[in-house]
Amino acid sequence: MGHTWLVLFELLAWYSRHARPLPWREPGTSPWAVLVCEVMSQQTPVSRVLPAWREWMERWPGPPEMAAASPAEVILAWGKLGYPRRALRLRQCAVAITEGNAGELPRERDALLALPGIGPYTADAIIAFAYHRRSTVLDTNIRRVLSRLHGAAFPPAHLRKDEVARAQALVPEEDELAWQWNAALMELGALVCTSRSPDCPACPLADRCAWLAAGRPESPAPRKAQAYAGTHRQARGRIMAALRTAHRPLPRGRLLADSGLPESRFAPALDSLVADGLCGRTADGYSLPPAARAPGN
Ligand code: SF4
Repeated sequence: MGHTWLVLFELLAWYSRHARPLPWREPGTSPWAVLVCEVMSQQTPVSRVLPAWREWMERWPGPPEMAAASPAEVILAWGKLGYPRRALRLRQCAVAITEGNAGELPRERDALLALPGIGPYTADAIIAFAYHRRSTVLDTNIRRVLSRLHGAAFPPAHLRKDEVARAQALVPEEDELAWQWNAALMELGALVCTSRSPDCPACPLADRCAWLAAGRPESPAPRKAQAYAGTHRQARGRIMAALRTAHRPLPRGRLLADSGLPESRFAPALDSLVADGLCGRTADGYSLPPAARAPGN
């Protein structure tokens, strides 16, 4: 799909009519608030991110406030958002920003990438949505839309150079248009060009879509997310849930019983949580990590 002003105009017009009124899109949202939202949204649906994000922003409006929190506090506040390592990484990031950048999130891509927990996707999203500057955001929604415009039902499992180059070439040059292009494509992927049932009649890009023009040929769907039940991740979640509700360190046997797991699943899950710094171990037993045991401290 070549880029034309008409495509851009139609996409942005669609966005202005249909974008969800999400609080992190309101003017005045701080770069830190955008970062927290991006990290929370990476593996968790918006409906569950919303209340958690509001709570975090009230409690820790900026990096200095979060840097002063203990690892146990941020893990508790992360609650059931899943993948709790993200909470620890956000705190580590807040510590790095507070100590090394006067509490301000950097503006440049390289400086963002140097922070704990910020990879290429997050850096590009911050440049676009926090600083309203040109970048090429490639989350799963945008990748799916671009892949369909180019003729394939799904993007490759891993980002490829040609995919990145094609995406970069489509982003408008002007900062103001570029970030809106990213925001609108992402919203289109979330609301219209969904993975399983794209609503092509409602799509502002239908005239330009090679996959639609080809009759939406079937192609192997991406691998489905692994079922949760019976996984290592579920076992870790059970142990974390027991630790979050405990008021004192739990001896191993008690934690095993509270988790409801068989020993064969409990042991590797517990070891991995200790290794990740999500679970502290003392002579009295296991608990959420105290500050002194946090990774990076
Ligand atoms: S026309 Fe259909 S498949 Fe193509 S981008 Fe729009 S919603 Fe997606």
